Amino acid sequence: MDKELQKGAILIISGPSGCGKSSLLKRFYEHFSNYYFSISTTTRAPRTGEVNGVDYFFTTPEEFEKDIENGNFLEYAKVHNNYYGTSLKPINQALSEGKLVIFDIDVQGHDLVRAKLNNITTSVFITTPTLKELERRLLLRNTDNKEIIENRIKNAKIEIHSLDKYDYLILNDNLEEASKKLVAIGNIALIKASLFTKENIINIWLGEE
Ligand code: ADP
Ligand code: 5GP
Repeated sequence: MDKELQKGAILIISGPSGCGKSSLLKRFYEHFSNYYFSISTTTRAPRTGEVNGVDYFFTTPEEFEKDIENGNFLEYAKVHNNYYGTSLKPINQALSEGKLVIFDIDVQGHDLVRAKLNNITTSVFITTPTLKELERRLLLRNTDNKEIIENRIKNAKIEIHSLDKYDYLILNDNLEEASKKLVAIGNIALIKASLFTKENIINIWLGEE
């Protein structure tokens, strides 16, 4: 649709590390073309296979703190003792192009984005059906040591209490079913009434363009 008629939309995805967000997003992208995945900046070390500029922009705490001072982040938070943040510039660019902008951010980030950009935001909380299954997936993924996994589990037990702040909930049991739900939410996010420029829509509707 014409950019004058519709703004870009934000889709926030949150959920405990290991619940399957990346796996679901991979499938999600097969159904969407006009999207932009917000690549966060982080001070955590890259996992095996992660690529700088693709999965994250990996940086130092000093550089991150400089970006905070310069007002470069839409939001940032400390998660699992590392900084994570969303840079403002590429987000504004993607929104001005009418794209669906996808954020994989934590609960703190969700609250901050909601406070700033609620009228264009849709959010979904994703988790495993049980804590036990989360532990199993984190162990199976085999990307983090025992201490890191324990920290992620501890955090998950806190994060789960925020699920009712979100518009939608997906219990990622069957990956196929869960990805269908995420695609449905992505489509709904793009037709939120507050994304549309009312005056322009009405003018066209009245035949007064
Ligand atoms: P996140 O991005 O939320 O940290 P990942 O997508 O990396 O999680 O998934 C964590 C692990 O769980 C991976 O090994 C992935 O293959 C597996 N996984 C994801 N979804 C499912 C599912 N529905 N059933 C079983 N295993 C899953
Ligand atoms: P991971 O280290 O597993 O990639 O991510 C850990 C957590 O940080 C996840 O809950 C993820 O959603 C969150 N996260 C990733 N990027 C950002 C970001 O830019 N901002 C915020 N607030 N959280 C983020």
